[in-house]
Amino acid sequence: MSTHPCPIEELLWNNGLRRTKDRQFMIAKLRLNRTWTLTQMDNVLPQTSQTTVYRNLKKFLDLDLIEEAFVHNHETHFEWMDREHHDHVICKKCSIAECIPCPSPDLNKHRIELEHICLLCNND
Ligand SMILES: [Zn+2]
Ligand SMILES: [Zn+2]
Ligand SMILES: [Zn+2]
Repeated sequence: MSTHPCPIEELLWNNGLRRTKDRQFMIAKLRLNRTWTLTQMDNVLPQTSQTTVYRNLKKFLDLDLIEEAFVHNHETHFEWMDREHHDHVICKKCSIAECIPCPSPDLNKHRIELEHICLLCNND
C-alpha cells in the first residue's frame, strides 16, 4: 500500500495557494458528486463573505481545478475538473444538481441536464 499525502493539501501547495480553512472546505465540497453555484457555496460558509467565496472560486477556475458545468436559472454551476464525462440531474425547487452516469453514451459531444424534484424537496 502506498501512502498518499492528503491530495487536497498537495493540490493547494502545488498551485502556490495558501491552505486556508475556507479553501480546504470548498475543495472538499467541490469534490462531491454534485455541482455548486456561488450562492450554494456561500450558504455553507456563513462566516465568510460572498466576495471571498467568489474570489476562491475564481482562483480555482483560473487554475483549472474546477470548471463551469452548465448554467441553470441564470446561475453558473461549478464542479471539479478532473472527471470522466457524465451528465446532471437538477432539482427544479432547490437547484441542487447531482452528477449522474451519462444516459446516452452513443451521442456525440454533449451535456445533458435533466430536471427532477429531489428527495429532500419531495418530502416538503
Ligand atoms: Zn431539491
Ligand atoms: Zn457533475
Ligand atoms: Zn453524456
